Amino acid sequence: MSPDYQSVLEAIQNEVVPLRRTGAVANYIPELAKVNPDKFGMHLQTIDGQGFSVGDSGESFSIQSISKVFALAMVVSCVGEKIFDRVGVEPSGSSFNSLVQLEYEKGIPRNPLINAGAMVVCDVLIEQLQKPKKEILDFIRILANNKKICYNENVAASENKFGFRNAALANFLKSFGNIHNNVNDVLDLYFHICSIEMSCKDLAAAFLLFANHGKVISADKALLTKSQTKRLNAVMQTCGFYDEAGEFSFTVGLPGKSGVGGGIVALHPHRYAVATWGPRLNARGNSVMGMRALELLTTKLGTSIF
Ligand code: GLN
Repeated sequence: MSPDYQSVLEAIQNEVVPLRRTGAVANYIPELAKVNPDKFGMHLQTIDGQGFSVGDSGESFSIQSISKVFALAMVVSCVGEKIFDRVGVEPSGSSFNSLVQLEYEKGIPRNPLINAGAMVVCDVLIEQLQKPKKEILDFIRILANNKKICYNENVAASENKFGFRNAALANFLKSFGNIHNNVNDVLDLYFHICSIEMSCKDLAAAFLLFANHGKVISADKALLTKSQTKRLNAVMQTCGFYDEAGEFSFTVGLPGKSGVGGGIVALHPHRYAVATWGPRLNARGNSVMGMRALELLTTKLGTSIF
């Protein structure tokens, strides 16, 4: 018998409400600071088609670094594992926008889920796709089965205007020969994918791909092989939370990915995908309420992948 997911989500919501005022909204991208910091939403979608929601689960927000997983899935579906000649699969143990490792590792980013790694992925997508922005958006719309998902041009412009550190990373990668296209084109694509807005409901639906052997449930179509899917889940498990990846494995025990918009998505292979949204972040850039909500989820259900 399947668990009573709705009751579990409602109990979690009650327990995380006291954390509503803990942490701070990301304000290094001015446009992101406009969000209502007290929001909380959670949606769990099972691979047999049931959805369970609490709070602001239908409201769209900036997915930010969660987009790195979609870009990686797309690049793997285009060029296979060749992408890993240009980006590693080791946890970085550093913040998502750190420059230091790139210098002594000669321009090969530690993994595709930190900013530098995602920029290399964007560089390959520019080479592989005819209309990268349109095709990436179409890909995500298919995964989430929602044609309304869009870029937020204001957020992309705000990141571009204040993205000095990301510009430094892209130029640094270029100096090592690990960006082939124009740096500004790569940054433009990178900022755009970060600006995509989705709800918890959309994100949980989209991440079912990784819980379902690489097959899109709504389209009954395989986008990734089983082996590629397992590997992407492994990368999320070890690298999805920057310098807090160990903590997320320790307390939650699921592969997942966070973003500075306050979203987190995680999945239990063959069972469900779950997304949370709480805009206030901890010192490492992960949602305070989301981290706690997911810890409570795997504790209450009594199952993680371990
Ligand atoms: N767009 C953000 C940045 O590049 C993404 C960071 C994140 O979500 N961790 O800084």
